[in-house]
Amino acid sequence: MGRVALVTGGTRGIGAAISKALAGAGYQVAASYAGNDEAAAAFTAETGVPAFKWDVSDFAACKAGIAEVEGKLGPVEILVNNAGITRDGMLHKMAPEQWHAVINTNLNSVFNMCRNVIEGMRERSFGRIVTVSSINGQKGQMGQTNYAAAKAGELGFTKALAQENAKKGITVNAICPGYIGTEMVRAVPKEVLDKQVLPQIPVGRLGEPEEIARCVAFLVADDAGFITGSTITVNGGQFMI
Ligand code: NDP
Repeated sequence: MGRVALVTGGTRGIGAAISKALAGAGYQVAASYAGNDEAAAAFTAETGVPAFKWDVSDFAACKAGIAEVEGKLGPVEILVNNAGITRDGMLHKMAPEQWHAVINTNLNSVFNMCRNVIEGMRERSFGRIVTVSSINGQKGQMGQTNYAAAKAGELGFTKALAQENAKKGITVNAICPGYIGTEMVRAVPKEVLDKQVLPQIPVGRLGEPEEIARCVAFLVADDAGFITGSTITVNGGQFMI
């Protein structure tokens, strides 16, 4: 049996592509989700990957959810922190609820998940953690102070956790996607995509969820043990650092 991989937000969008890629590579995959039961059921019916419902912004729920996954599949050796939301607005109009929802779901969730798997990974001297951050955590984005702060926070967290666990066979990395053609981005009016978004992308198109998934599969492999604390940008050349 392959190693157990847990993908948060693994039933839709980029996360679903990651779940499928890892299942295809022979891992035992568990996909978590927040509340869209219909999408989760359709995903499991299509892929055979089991879906588990809990809120990643809730520490106790993460602890219980991980225990349930481990009870069914075995210890989590690979964690992909992918779940995320946006609640955009200019700061001068932003409600505290918009700020807290985005920080809790995107950043505090990464603490909640990692804290509940890291001791087991250290005991077993193996682990792979990949967090899906964003181009907007690297460059900032008008209307997204909350999201940019959360996504930049994930990058600092990744480097610190990588240092803490480098001698324990655990790698910790981040991926920063640019515009990826998920439901969220495809919902943007075609005219806005064509006139405002695509001209910013040198490659001249949106990315595909599978292009992020391939990058995750590369980072979680057993033979990727020398890559840790890295931030990999997958953005069609939109922002180069
Ligand atoms: P989607 O909105 O398509 O999917 C989000 C997934 O996360 C769903 O499975 C959702 O569950 C889950 N989720 C949301 N909130 C919670 C929560 N509180 N607890 C548990 N699960 C939750 O997102 P994308 O695929 O577009 O994005 C995936 C990641 O990639 C995010 O971190 C996003 O910030 C990042 N990203 C996306 C880009 C893009 O262009 N799409 C660009 C850069 C970064 P449910 O189905 O139940 O709602």
